[in-house]
Amino acid sequence: MELSSLAGNSRLKELLSHREEGRGLSHAYIISGPAGSGRHTLARLLAAAMVCTAHPGSRPCGRCAPCKKVFGGIHPDVAVISGVGEGKPITVDQIRSLRADAHIRPNEGERKVYLLEGADQMNAAAQNAMLKLLEEGPQYAAFLLLAENGGGLLQTVRSRCEELTLSPVPVKECQDWLEKRFPQKTGEEVRQAALDCQGLLGRAVERLEGTAESLQARESQAVKLADALETRTELELFEAAMVLDKQSREELPRLLDALERELTGRMARRQDRRRLFRGVELTRQIRAAARLNANPGQLAGWLCAGMFI
Ligand SMILES: [Zn+2]
Repeated sequence: MELSSLAGNSRLKELLSHREEGRGLSHAYIISGPAGSGRHTLARLLAAAMVCTAHPGSRPCGRCAPCKKVFGGIHPDVAVISGVGEGKPITVDQIRSLRADAHIRPNEGERKVYLLEGADQMNAAAQNAMLKLLEEGPQYAAFLLLAENGGGLLQTVRSRCEELTLSPVPVKECQDWLEKRFPQKTGEEVRQAALDCQGLLGRAVERLEGTAESLQARESQAVKLADALETRTELELFEAAMVLDKQSREELPRLLDALERELTGRMARRQDRRRLFRGVELTRQIRAAARLNANPGQLAGWLCAGMFI
């Protein structure tokens, strides 16, 4: 497997690198590690490797159509499931719908891949429904269970999965990786971010991207979007929401967070909160979709359809 875009974690990469020549990838993984440790990066790489059409030794190639779709967030056979609402776990009902969906054959390739956010937060009923799916699901279905702590999953579920645990990236490797990623930053900024992130590169990336200037721009975009969501017509909302489709993969979740904060802040001050509630709900849905996908696409359309149907 081709995993060079994942920083550090050399043992894990070594472990996965020979998979295609050997027994291939398994159909169920637990990907565990703290926030910022690279779980989503690894999940995306695994999902792409599963649908990639390149020579087995070089999957994911990043160049074939299926790879591009996974990294672009538009592959119809790669789905992300997360709890509905901030910090809410995936429910047993969601697992049941997932099971129904899994029995529909893939649209494009040989496999269907499901990524489950916060799998360790699911209650016993949801985990048991998941277990059944792991045991009896169709051959082509693969499951990537993201967890902060693999120990939060039932032993029965764990025994059906291969667990991949992400480790903190050493300071030197963090620094090298960040230098390549942020050539415009000074050596000192990068060094300090590498030192402070405790091996969790996601944190360092967040910090280096969050300059005062971009913060201000983001806040004002969030206010405009919130205005449009709360009071404007469908067309006006659509125009305002085009800003979402222009965001980079890194910036989009931050803008959505700022938007959610803005909308929730307004709720306390309003009588009629229906549109605000709906706006928060949609913002969370879009953020969940954006987690795995580099660019879910058509977000302005998504937002308008959700608000006005
Ligand atoms: Zn490929």
